[in-house]
Amino acid sequence: MKGKTALVTGSTSGIGLGIAERYASLGANVVLNGLGRFDEIEAMRERLEKKHGVNVRYDAADMTDAAAIEEMISRTVSEFGAIDILVNNAGIQHVAPIDEFPADKWLAIISINLVASFHTIRYALPAMKERKWGRIVNIASAHALVASPFKSAYVAAKHGVAGLTKTVALEVAELGITVNAICPGYVRTPLVEKQIPDTARARGITEEQVIRDVLLSAQPTKQFVTIEQVASLAAYLAGDDAASINGAILPVDGGWTAH
Ligand code: NAD
Repeated sequence: MKGKTALVTGSTSGIGLGIAERYASLGANVVLNGLGRFDEIEAMRERLEKKHGVNVRYDAADMTDAAAIEEMISRTVSEFGAIDILVNNAGIQHVAPIDEFPADKWLAIISINLVASFHTIRYALPAMKERKWGRIVNIASAHALVASPFKSAYVAAKHGVAGLTKTVALEVAELGITVNAICPGYVRTPLVEKQIPDTARARGITEEQVIRDVLLSAQPTKQFVTIEQVASLAAYLAGDDAASINGAILPVDGGWTAH
């Protein structure tokens, strides 16, 4: 990946940070994005830059804001000359029955988990087309393939990401650009930690029961997927060997969606 530039949305934490670090370790320059305390993010940025000897920049663009997304993409292209690899990873979750689901949360989930990818893709594509090379990796979810109760917004958004992935893959297939989606099962990140108490409340069970009987009950391996496993696939998809993988919706879920 030497000389390539990767932009990973939502990379101040969890899976996105793991992918950004993997790309940096393979020689790519990286643009981090996401929420968080500036001093902590700056320390993370400096650590990645020093450890891997690549340029790492941070862009605070809010994924609910189309104008901020456009600025982030054009800043990245003008500073690095290209966006070779775009990873749409930023995401949020909220767990509640549909008739109690706060409308603002529903729209925020659709906006960050789905609509933001429409904006990043449409703004990043012209530079990829110009160079006749590009990789778009959308971090969807097993919930792009199957549903779980109380996650209507998230499941709708992730199914939308699968549709977006396939559609854009067809549009750019002859241009040296691939578009794929990775569908992780449960990965123990802050996003999952936060939903454990909410799921316990929604289902009227304890947090231990949520981990055993809800989260890992769906995953036949009974193991959380690791960030490193997802990052390895994201690295493979970003390479030349993956040129014929296009429009694929790829589960990394321990067999969950084989049910
Ligand atoms: P996380 O909470 O650790 O990370 C989410 C990232 O998105 C953070 O960097 C956060 O700052 C960023 N973000 C949130 N709102 C944003 C906004 N408005 N603008 C910019 N950035 C914003 O969660 P994670 O588990 O690492 O999730 C990453 C992706 O993986 C999400 O799309 C999630 O749906 C998906 N996913 C996670 C799991 C899992 O089990 N953890 C499983 C399947 C899919």
